[in-house]
Amino acid sequence: MKYEIRLSGDEVRLMQEVKARSGVDLARCYQCGECTAGCPMTPEMDAGPTKTLRLIQLGMEKALFDLNTPWLCASCETCTARCPNDIDIALVMDIVRQMARLKGKKLPIKEPRVFQDVFLKSVENHGRLYEPGMIAFYNLHSGDLFHDVALGPKMLLKGKLPLLPHTSKNREKLREIFRKAEAFEKEAGKKASQEGHDESGH
Ligand code: SF4
Ligand code: SF4
Repeated sequence: MKYEIRLSGDEVRLMQEVKARSGVDLARCYQCGECTAGCPMTPEMDAGPTKTLRLIQLGMEKALFDLNTPWLCASCETCTARCPNDIDIALVMDIVRQMARLKGKKLPIKEPRVFQDVFLKSVENHGRLYEPGMIAFYNLHSGDLFHDVALGPKMLLKGKLPLLPHTSKNREKLREIFRKAEAFEKEAGKKASQEGHDESGH
């Protein structure tokens, strides 16, 4: 049996924007709960994937971006594998994270954002990851100054962490990729917002 959610106007705009960015049509979700039943992170989440998708279906943007759910999603894809409608829920979680960043939303938890920022900055600066620098910046920006600090010297002594950064020969090329990705992301964000707007008839 085929199910389809039909909404109109502003309510559908969020679902159309997610579709424009991901290609995933959440009107096919009939809220069976199979995704949440298999999600290992649900106990820590404000709402499981099923409820999260429901907020998107209903156009409840503020409630969606207030959830810690997308930020705790481990991208394990168990939900996607379990969905009887072949909905790529893990991809939607990724898209919601992107949308929150692009729209400048205040994130419910800051650690994943800080981690993403310092990880990417380290790769952009050195052409590869420099773990000690990344850990220092992460602790500084997350406010958890002594997080895992006792492990550092042990790992250095065992040669598991480099003392100085190794810089990639292709660092400039990588920086160019970062610049292009940033420009592409901004353009895609504008286009998807516009498409979602157009399809909702506003
Ligand atoms: S398993 Fe699929 S159809 Fe069921 S609630 Fe999750 S996304 Fe919706
Ligand atoms: S991909 Fe995310 S939402 Fe899906 S089961 Fe894994 S942790 Fe849960």
